[in-house]
Amino acid sequence: MFNTNTISRFKDLETPFYYYDLGLLRHTLDACKMASDQYGFHVHYAMKANFNPKVLETIQSYGFGADCVSGNEVKAAIANDFDKSKVVFAGVGKSDKEINAALDADIFCFNVESIQELSIINDLAKAKNKKAKVAIRINPNVDAQTHHFITTGLDENKFGINIWQLNDVAETLRKCASLQFIGIHFHIGSQITDLEVYKNLCTRINDMQDWFEDHGFQVKVLNTGGGLGVDYHHPDTNPIPNFEGYFKVFKDFLKVKPGQEVHFELGRAMVAQSSALIARVLYVKIGQKKNFLVLDAGMTELIRPMLYQAYQKIENLSRESGSESQISNLKSQIFKYDVVGPICESTDCFQKDVELPESFRGDLFAIRTAGAYGEVMASGYNLRDRVQSVYSE
Ligand SMILES: *Cc1c(COP(=O)(O)O)cnc(C)c1O
Repeated sequence: MFNTNTISRFKDLETPFYYYDLGLLRHTLDACKMASDQYGFHVHYAMKANFNPKVLETIQSYGFGADCVSGNEVKAAIANDFDKSKVVFAGVGKSDKEINAALDADIFCFNVESIQELSIINDLAKAKNKKAKVAIRINPNVDAQTHHFITTGLDENKFGINIWQLNDVAETLRKCASLQFIGIHFHIGSQITDLEVYKNLCTRINDMQDWFEDHGFQVKVLNTGGGLGVDYHHPDTNPIPNFEGYFKVFKDFLKVKPGQEVHFELGRAMVAQSSALIARVLYVKIGQKKNFLVLDAGMTELIRPMLYQAYQKIENLSRESGSESQISNLKSQIFKYDVVGPICESTDCFQKDVELPESFRGDLFAIRTAGAYGEVMASGYNLRDRVQSVYSE
């Protein structure tokens, strides 16, 4: 991701900033497109992972659809030229205003998360003399084997409709003349690296589509959601997620009937590796128990480590940019630091006890794999400036 030219370019820039490697982004999208196209699968990009305009423009140019979780994301998808017939809209708390905006935009489908929401969409569509296309988001009670903060498909989670409510769903759908049922939707969590989890999901989807067909509904769309994980520990050796293996699981284990479409909603896997947060060391605090490196970036620029105890690789670009052998020569001078931000919260720590070469004020640092749930979660806490984005080209 970084060569000596990139790093020397960074030296003149104000930090912190998000660096985007657009070449890597395109390689990733190429891999995703090739792997999904071979089976005729439909991929919607989950915009909440990153809605930087340049990133959206690049993703849109591949013809991917958009997966939105707010009315403004629906609007942004359309404003950024995503095809409205490929826009899906999920979320447990869609407001009337958001539903109306999506109805006006004639999107492909609402992924509906409660029985009450079905009736509300029906009423709002009726008032506009429209038919809303809906898929039922089912909570399949499949354990995503990921961090509990980013698990969404268990009975205890707020998302989706539980299996024991399906009779009520069927009854409501029959009563709602302004709804058109098109299929079933799932999304069980994020940063899923064990493909076995997706096999279990396929089994559930197969059962659920049989249930709907047995109850007189035609299931045209099977939307499996997203969640494919990336390698936060080895961003350089594993920059591109295993799209081949991922899609193949669905090819092998999903019962796809003639005329059915299989849809996916990937966020993280498409964008995470192509960005890093670049920061400078402001202060080095050598203590009796702990050494701290205080960076000029913190939880206001990248909150995943603080919010989900997530690991993101930290590198000192000013001292580690050399070859492997140079790095091993430095081994004798390896220090342990808590790498922290400037924000007035104790939780504002990127990682504790990071092994790094001896580091100094002014050193450039990269926090890798920041392309998903990074820039989009930035906040203005402490009245911090909104930081810039820098592109490889
Ligand atoms: C967030 C989200 C996704 C994408 O999740 P990733 O882990 O980024 O792939 C897909 N579908 C829905 C409904 C989501 O909320």
